This record gives sequence, C-alpha cells and structure tokens, in this order.
Amino acid sequence: MIPDPPFALLAELTHRCPLQCPYCSNPLDLERAAKEMTTEEWCGAIRQAAALGCMQVHFSGGEPTARPDLELLVSEAAAAGLYTNLITSGVLCDRARLKRLAAAGLEHVQLSFQGTTASLADRIGGHAGGHEKKLAFAQDVRDTGLPLTANFVVHRQNVHQLDDMIGLAVLIGAERMEIANVQYYGWALKNRAALMPSRAQLDRMTGQVAATRERLKGIVTIYFVVPDYYARRPKACMGGWGRRFLNISPSGKVLPCHAAESITSLTFDTVREKPLADIWLRGSAFQAFRGTGWMPEPCRSCDRKEIDWGGCRCQAFAITGDAAQTDPACALSDDHESLVLTALEDASTGGDDFVYRNFRTAKVLPEF
Ligand code: SF4
Ligand code: SF4
Repeated sequence: MIPDPPFALLAELTHRCPLQCPYCSNPLDLERAAKEMTTEEWCGAIRQAAALGCMQVHFSGGEPTARPDLELLVSEAAAAGLYTNLITSGVLCDRARLKRLAAAGLEHVQLSFQGTTASLADRIGGHAGGHEKKLAFAQDVRDTGLPLTANFVVHRQNVHQLDDMIGLAVLIGAERMEIANVQYYGWALKNRAALMPSRAQLDRMTGQVAATRERLKGIVTIYFVVPDYYARRPKACMGGWGRRFLNISPSGKVLPCHAAESITSLTFDTVREKPLADIWLRGSAFQAFRGTGWMPEPCRSCDRKEIDWGGCRCQAFAITGDAAQTDPACALSDDHESLVLTALEDASTGGDDFVYRNFRTAKVLPEF
C-alpha cells in the first residue's frame, strides 16, 4: 500500500544547545557540529519535503537559532509554501534576529520553559540566567506579532509549579500552552528516577488541567500529555509510525520520529544519499512499523489498532529490548505491570540529581 504524504517535517538543524535539559528528546549520541548538513543540503531537504506533500516545517534542535543560516532556511520553506514554526529555548535569539526571522517568513514560535522561577528553571535547564532570557524573548515574540505557544515539560521536580505555569502562559500572551509529561527514552530514561511523578501528583495535575481548561476557554488552549507509565492505553505516537511525520537529524538521517534513533536495531537512510521521497515510501526504518502488519498479539486482534497504532515503538524497545512488542504503556501488554511498579518505585525512592544532557555526558555515561 502506498502511504499518504507526510503532513509535517521536523527539521532538527543542530544538536548544539546552551541548555542541558535532563529529559531532552535528542539521542544520547549527540551529533557534532562538523556533521551537520550545510545550508544547501537543508534547502534541498526542505524543497523535497514540500514536493512530497508536507504542509509544515518545524525548525528544532538542539537550539535551531544556533544555526546562523536559520533565516535562509525559513525563507526557503516559506517560498516552498510550507507553514513555518520555530521550536526554541529562546536564550540565543535577540529581538533584531527575531524580526529578521519574521521578515523571512516565520509564522509561529514555540517557546519552552523549565519552570516558573529562575532558581528552579535554571537548575533544570542547567543554564544560569536562562529563565530571564526566556521572559524577555517571550516579550519580543509578542512585540513582533507572532503567535506563541508556551511549552512546559512537567515532572516530579517542577509539577508543584503547574498553576504558576498556566499563569505565566497567560501573562506572556501565549495563545496555546503545552503541558507535557516527560516521555521516557534517551536522556529522560537515564533520568527517570529523578523525574517520575507520583500517581498522586498525576491525579492532581489532571484535575488542575481540566479545571483550568474550562476557566481559560477562549483565552489559552491547553494541550496535556499524560505520562505513559500511568496510562491504561498508549498514545497514538506520532499519529502512527511513518503515517504523518518525518524527522531529519542534523546530519540528514531521516527518522519516523525524533526519538527513533534510540531503536538501535534499525538503520536510517540519509537525505545526503537518497531522495526523501524514496526514504518515505520505501525506507526500511519507515516500513518496519508502518500500518498494522507488523503487530504482535494482543494488538493484532485489538479494535484500537488503527486508533493508537500500537503506541510507541521507542518505548517498547526501551523497556523490552524489542521494538516490535506491544507498548508496555498498554494495560494489555505483559510488561505493563512491571512498568507501573517501576514508575511507583522511581517516584518514591528516586533522588533529585540529574545527568545533564551535553556532549561530555553523551560520551562517557553507559546506557541503561
Ligand atoms: S530539551 Fe532542553 S537541552 Fe534539549 S534541545 Fe530543548 S532546550 Fe535544548
Ligand atoms: S493492545 Fe495494542 S492496539 Fe490494543 S490498545 Fe493496546 S497497544 Fe493499542
């Protein structure tokens, strides 16, 4: 069966980032600047994505504004008819640059926060002074007239600030807010014991989000991502493997999702060597878990198999060592009970120290 065209491209321009978030979705083996694609190579990939049918490009990283050619890439995407979004930590981009990006065709900004107080946010992000810079950047976004989404990744060490996070999103004039619990693969898996919330914390945040959604209807739209470990059924991760999204890494590897490199049993083609359309249509990594044919029981006979598409392959691999297993977040999986017990144990006995995400720890620390 020929797959539909991808809806959006996540362009991970670089893994360089001044922050060091312990839940970063970048792979443990961060790609160095020397391996990054050139401006020309990125422009080619963007044009190919548009020709393939993509509607949107999300410029991400690492920190995408670390690339001095970002304006050129935005303008290339806009010329190709793509909706352009910048996913940023906001600490490297001043007002003048933001204006240049808007002039180049940037249409939306997604700004991440690690907390609501400088002391906590800067400790989590591992970057002194970061929170203050983010607040200034948020003001710049408003002044530039660009729509803004505020992203908060929540976990045990910042969830007590949830009400203030919502207040901050309103204060900075964000139209949308994403409250996302950590997804545990890669760096977050290394830091799981320090990040996992308790079930009581999850119950509280679920109630807070529901009440706030009602209260702020028409002011800010709130997206809420629950933690998989306490779920009964998995999310439709990426809307299904190889169905809606593609991700290009700094060196040009084409991935079905931003965390797919954590599945070490797969190999990934690069746009440096093959046309993007070939990779999307026939690449072995995309074919591996596309559709429902690969599914084991109980997914194979489940009436949700075309709703959640079997959940997250990265999580199945991280927990069971086999990416083709049922996502352990599903209560029908044989591995679900031990997943929940792990969460409860991490939440109650885990310490507060982080393994920060940076090029040094990427190399020296062993994998779980
Ligand atoms: S999650 Fe944190 S460390 Fe990772 S790219 Fe985003 S801001 Fe940088
Ligand atoms: S058994 Fe598979 S398809 Fe059914 S709900 Fe669980 S993960 Fe989804």
